[in-house]
Amino acid sequence: TFGAEFLVRWLAAVAETVDREADRLTELDSAIGDADHGANLKRGFAAVTETLAKEPPVTPGAVLTTAGRHLISTVGGASGPLYGTLLRRAGKTLGEEETIGRVRLAEALEAGVAAVAQLGGAQVGDKTMLDSLVPGVEGLRTSFGAARAAADEGAVGTVPLRARKGRASYLGERSVGHQDPGATSSALLFSTLAETAG
Ligand code: ADP
Ligand code: MG
Ligand code: MG
Repeated sequence: TFGAEFLVRWLAAVAETVDREADRLTELDSAIGDADHGANLKRGFAAVTETLAKEPPVTPGAVLTTAGRHLISTVGGASGPLYGTLLRRAGKTLGEEETIGRVRLAEALEAGVAAVAQLGGAQVGDKTMLDSLVPGVEGLRTSFGAARAAADEGAVGTVPLRARKGRASYLGERSVGHQDPGATSSALLFSTLAETAG
C-alpha cells in the first residue's frame, strides 16, 4: 500500500516525462490537431507539480483532486478538462482514505475514466485518450506492468483508427494513419506509474 507521497512522486515524474516528450506529443498533434498538446500538458503538469511541492496534501484523494483542479485551470485545450476530470473524479472516489493499494487506485481511476467518457462523449475506438486509458486502468487491476503494456498497446492501436471526437475528427478519413496525441500522453501516465512503483 501507499499514501499521498507516492502519488505526489508519480505526478512529479509525469511532469518530467511530459517535459521530455513534449516535442513528440506536439508533433503528433500537428499531424491531426493544432500542434499544442505537448505545450498544453507541459504547462498543466508543471503547475500541478509546483502546487503539490508547495503544499503537499495528506491523503491520496486530495493529491489527485488538487492535481485535477490545476489541470482544468491551467490547460487551455480539450485535454485539460478531460485529464482534470480523470484525476478529480479519481480523487473524490478515494475520499479520506489515508493509504491505498494498487487495486484501489485502479478502481478510483476507473471512475475517473468513466467521467472522462461522459464529459467528452467518446468511447473506445473513437481515437482518443480513452483508447489508452480504458485498457490501462483495466491492466492496473493486474499489475503496474500490465497497465503500462495495455496502455501502450492502446495508444499504438489508435494509428489505423478514424477520429470521431475532438479536433482530429474534423479531418475524417485523413486522421487515419496517425497515432492520437492524447492516447500517447495517457500511455505516459501508466509507464510513469510503473516506474514510480519501481
Ligand atoms: P486541443 O484538441 O483542444 O488542442 P489537446 O491537443 O491538448 O487539445 O488534446 C487533444 C487530445 O484530447 C486528443 O488527441 C484526444 O486524445 C483528446 N480528446 C479530444 N477530444 C476528446 C473527447 N471528446 N473525448 C476524449 N478525448 C478527447
Ligand atoms: Mg491540440
Ligand atoms: Mg488546442
